Amino acid sequence: MRRIFCVGRNYAEHAREMGADPDREPPFFFTKPADAVVDDGATLPYPPQTANLHHEAELVAAIGVGGAQIPAEQALKHVWGYATGNDLTRRDMQAVAKEMRRPWDMSKGFDHSAACGALHSTSVIGHPLQGRITAHVDGDLRQDGNIGDLIWPVADVIAYLSNSVTLATGDLIYTGTPAGVGPINSGQSCTIAIDGLSSVTTSYA
Ligand code: MN
Repeated sequence: MRRIFCVGRNYAEHAREMGADPDREPPFFFTKPADAVVDDGATLPYPPQTANLHHEAELVAAIGVGGAQIPAEQALKHVWGYATGNDLTRRDMQAVAKEMRRPWDMSKGFDHSAACGALHSTSVIGHPLQGRITAHVDGDLRQDGNIGDLIWPVADVIAYLSNSVTLATGDLIYTGTPAGVGPINSGQSCTIAIDGLSSVTTSYA
């Protein structure tokens, strides 16, 4: 993979739970380093400098064909496939960054912060436009949404993002999380699932 782009606040109920107004706010983006990706089944050390590691269940789109200024009507042709992702977040550090008007890099782009399940080719699964998306922590349901509720669907996200940067083969886009984000503690496991895609489980020592 090449780069990791993430969309902030792309489900209305999650925007509200974070204290924002979801109405017609254009999508905004942040990034993680490509080597933050961690595969399904990993057991990781609890990250440093946080006491409030949060899960964010997300649909991940993988770019197959790059491009700039891609129209929304053409955008899905640029997607190679999809995966289930967890945009792991040091929420306490992010809250300080927001308060201090500082960047999110260290709260979002830390080691192993981008869990990503198996990629499924669009030639096999097409483009998932609806489907249940969940997060379980130690078997307890924490997030329960539907990817059909994305404020900005994948095609619009690609259109916006490609007006800002030239997308390239291997770029991953984490498309945002539904309501219900919350902590994963040391010793716990978090599983993200989306209908029709492989799940991704991340465990903490
Ligand atoms: Mn997110």
